[in-house]
Amino acid sequence: MERTEAIDTGELFDCIVIGAGPGGLQACIHLGRYNFRVLLFHRPGGRTHHAKHIENYLGLRAVSGPDLLEMGLVQVKSFGVTIESVKVERVEVGEGHFAVMAAGKTFRSRFVIASSGARESIAPFKNLPRFFGISYFTCLICDGYRTTGKKLLVIDRTINGVRISIGMKQMFTKDVTFLAQGFSLSPQYAALLDEEGIGRVEGRPEELLGEKTLEGVRLADGRVIPCEVILGWGGISLNDEYLEDLPLERDTEGFKIVTKSSGESSIPGLFVLGALRQGHSQAIISAGQGAEAAIEISTRIVEL
Ligand SMILES: Cc1cc2nc3c(=O)[nH]c(=O)nc-3n(C[C@H](O)[C@H](O)[C@H](O)COP(=O)(O)OP(=O)(O)OC[C@H]3O[C@@H](n4cnc5c(N)ncnc54)[C@H](O)[C@@H]3O)c2cc1C
Repeated sequence: MERTEAIDTGELFDCIVIGAGPGGLQACIHLGRYNFRVLLFHRPGGRTHHAKHIENYLGLRAVSGPDLLEMGLVQVKSFGVTIESVKVERVEVGEGHFAVMAAGKTFRSRFVIASSGARESIAPFKNLPRFFGISYFTCLICDGYRTTGKKLLVIDRTINGVRISIGMKQMFTKDVTFLAQGFSLSPQYAALLDEEGIGRVEGRPEELLGEKTLEGVRLADGRVIPCEVILGWGGISLNDEYLEDLPLERDTEGFKIVTKSSGESSIPGLFVLGALRQGHSQAIISAGQGAEAAIEISTRIVEL
């Protein structure tokens, strides 16, 4: 990739935080309250922004993702954190500091926290935006509860959907059907679903049916599978393009970034939070990781 020379802003921050999701915001709250010089790169969007009903965040009975983020940003601003509303393009490791490139400028810091999350691979079903986050869900931990007692269709391209279907039946609803998207179930898995009393269908979903409420799914061959709610997983891609030149240790699939419990990656001083790193991705977990990383960084800065 051709790179143009970036203007050096000159200032050395204690920490640069990339991404204002729950992880990055919580890190900023802790770092700001140490009176450190902190710079947060904030681009609207992200997975939390898509969450319509967060009901598993301590102290908030129910909150939308955008409201949670907005409250967090107001809190961050109150502690004097500098905010740049631009996308980070690259991070380099320099002599005793990091160089962060964004919008034609270079920003320097002693520590970096990468908290830029991931993006969903959204299935290309017709009418999906109408139901996404309302009756079409992608995350069992986040939204399984919202399917309680409803007619559920689990859609998956892999046999992992069999495991999910059984789990959903045990926890949330007796009325579960598994749609094997574009593949045939082996006799062994078909028998397992039959034994568990879970319906099974094979085919290619094309369209979600219903005006205000979800009524079913139309398959490519014209069959209609009735349902009130769907759990469908399409996978995620990490928002980590700006880290691609760095020799970060990744998991065995070369996907998620491996960190210590403090969040520090294999590159000293570079911390990684939330969906970018191994482990479960939840708003409250990211926030906890943000606090952990910030406290660890504080002990290095003041050598406690
Ligand atoms: C539909 C849906 C419902 C969910 N419901 C729940 C729930 O009920 N409870 C729960 O705990 N979790 C829920 N989640 C999961 C939760 O949103 C994630 O666990 C959480 O987003 C992880 O937070 P994060 O801090 O890693 O990143 P994110 O929330 O994804 O935030 C990352 C931020 O970084 C920004 N960014 C990306 N690249 C750059 C860059 N290069 N430069 C600058 N900024 C950048 C993004 O724009 C975004 O603002 C849900 C997710 C989805 C999609």
